[in-house]
Amino acid sequence: MDLLSKRINDMVESSTLAMAAKAREMKQKGFDVISLSLGEPDFSTPKHIQEGAKQAIDDGKYFSYAPVNGYLDLRKAISEKFKRENNLNYKPEQVVVSNGAKQSLANLFLALLNPGDEVIIYAPYWVSYPALVELAEGECTFIKGDIKDDFKANAAQLQEAITNKTKAVIFSSPCNPTGSIFSKDDFEAMVKVLSDYPKIIVIADEIYELINFVGAHVSIGSLPGMQERTVTVNGFAKGFAMTGWRVGYIGAPLWLATAANKIQGQITSANCSIAQRAAFTALTSTKEASKAMVNAYYQRRQVVYGLLEKIPGVEVNMPQGAFYFFPNVSNYFGKQGIHNATDLCVYLLDEAHVSLVSGEGFGEPDCVRLSYAASEKNLKIAVDRIARALKKLI
Ligand code: PMP
Ligand code: GLU
Repeated sequence: MDLLSKRINDMVESSTLAMAAKAREMKQKGFDVISLSLGEPDFSTPKHIQEGAKQAIDDGKYFSYAPVNGYLDLRKAISEKFKRENNLNYKPEQVVVSNGAKQSLANLFLALLNPGDEVIIYAPYWVSYPALVELAEGECTFIKGDIKDDFKANAAQLQEAITNKTKAVIFSSPCNPTGSIFSKDDFEAMVKVLSDYPKIIVIADEIYELINFVGAHVSIGSLPGMQERTVTVNGFAKGFAMTGWRVGYIGAPLWLATAANKIQGQITSANCSIAQRAAFTALTSTKEASKAMVNAYYQRRQVVYGLLEKIPGVEVNMPQGAFYFFPNVSNYFGKQGIHNATDLCVYLLDEAHVSLVSGEGFGEPDCVRLSYAASEKNLKIAVDRIARALKKLI
């Protein structure tokens, strides 16, 4: 459309949301579709968090604009959480609460990038990173990890990708879409490279922090010398099953938090007041409900891995966190008009009535993403249908 800006015409649609919409459309037409495309907990927000929001409405004190960067008591609770759980020392004024971690990321790129500035993105990556970098007129440089290395790019690749235009580095750990987790050793190797480039900002997306099956979550910002140059991104969507509430946040160097605050003040004014009260409840009460969800994801991971592993031609690794499998399906390319992962996803939706997301949007076109944030029963049916549909291609 020629009336639209180049910015929007150049932008790709979110492939996760697009595939979820396609599955919803087919369901509405009466097809029995199992949607494993959206990265969204299938659990309801825990009751006590819902109660926190109801209480805030009944109090009648939270109907006005909230402060742009979030209520002070919420930012204090986040600051304490950073200290307690991540060994990070962001003060409340270094915390900005936003409309989901997605807006936190958008704020950051808009605050940091001038046209032509480069951002190194660990691939496979979450779909929105490149789109948001490009929206801010930055350039993406990708460093890609192989399935044999748990999809983790190494320090030598990072070193090679750095130029004098590199402004920032971004990754998620636990990773969407691979479920991989950077260990302390991985981070130490990364930090060794970065120590020669003190001006490069590290953006650590830790939104899947709570969904971790290997135990110790490490924040790169807690390594010596790193906090001053690290933005830690987190949110309530995944660990607390609060996707629709839209609450994300950052801990950042003060100058960058101030800039994110400035942008937010012009774009959204602040995050929804009641959602912030729900988030405050989530952070200041027991995490038993989150632990129960993680146990369920763990159980499902075991079941789905066992089933995927048995499908001929599908190469799968064991994810360490988040709730995704990211199997390599390239053995099926070249069969019956299927040329790539996108074709295969369309085929599986039509033939098996299961929706997955093509790896193309995540920077790995040989893979597809399967979200196992679904009931064990549906997961078993879905993987069985996938296996049957793939068999027809051989
Ligand atoms: N980062 C990653 C890695 C994600 O998967 C998502 C999707 N939820 C986000 C950020 C954005 O989260 P939110 O829903 O809080 O905007
Ligand atoms: N982050 C989730 C996913 O990857 C939700 C959808 C989105 O925000 O893109 O599926």
